[in-house]
Amino acid sequence: MQALDTKLDQLAHRRETLPQHAALRELDATLLVLRDQIVAAETEADDITRELTKAEGDVEQVRARAARDQQRLDAGQVSSPKELEGLQHEIATLAKRQGDLEDVVLEIMERLESTQSRHSELLGQQEEAKARYTELTAARDRANAEIDNEMAVLRPQRDTQAGGLADELVALYEKIRAQQGGIGAAQLTQRRCSGCRLEINNVELGRLRAADEDEVLRCEECRRILVRTPESGL
Ligand SMILES: [Zn+2]
Repeated sequence: MQALDTKLDQLAHRRETLPQHAALRELDATLLVLRDQIVAAETEADDITRELTKAEGDVEQVRARAARDQQRLDAGQVSSPKELEGLQHEIATLAKRQGDLEDVVLEIMERLESTQSRHSELLGQQEEAKARYTELTAARDRANAEIDNEMAVLRPQRDTQAGGLADELVALYEKIRAQQGGIGAAQLTQRRCSGCRLEINNVELGRLRAADEDEVLRCEECRRILVRTPESGL
């Protein structure tokens, strides 16, 4: 029964410490960071788009004004040389201004493009992380199912063994098990308690030897139940 309980404890421990648990926790954190980065990239792209719309409007305004000036010039509406010179000067200034504003638009477009490409890169990373998450979850579930299956085989065996023992003995065993790191019963092998590994002294050994076969033997050191074996050295 102790061997089966130990095996069951090990399975339970294995289930708690599956490597997928740590990997999934890490991936959770990664996904959280990615989600924030994606939102930030989207916000940034929105801001830049607004900036672009405004800059394009600025270009359009200058272009329209220059077109109007040019039209006036072409229509010969301006006759005074001074006014003519002023208008020509303004057209030249507007052309320069339009060029500068178009450079601004280009610069904004480049920024938008780089933000959008970072955004799609982040989406790609998110997709990969999600796929990995799905894989890991499936692997974890498979490992859990395997452990469950093993436990489902062992548990009835363990219960059958416990059923063959006196209730008080099982209760004592469980009590010691809880206190002594899961080991309630230990074999007495070559005069040693296999629980605490200490050698039984001669006086005690004599007492154990003389004990009735039905008597429950306990290790003097660790108080575990001692199970007699042909190699006990009694
Ligand atoms: Zn002991």
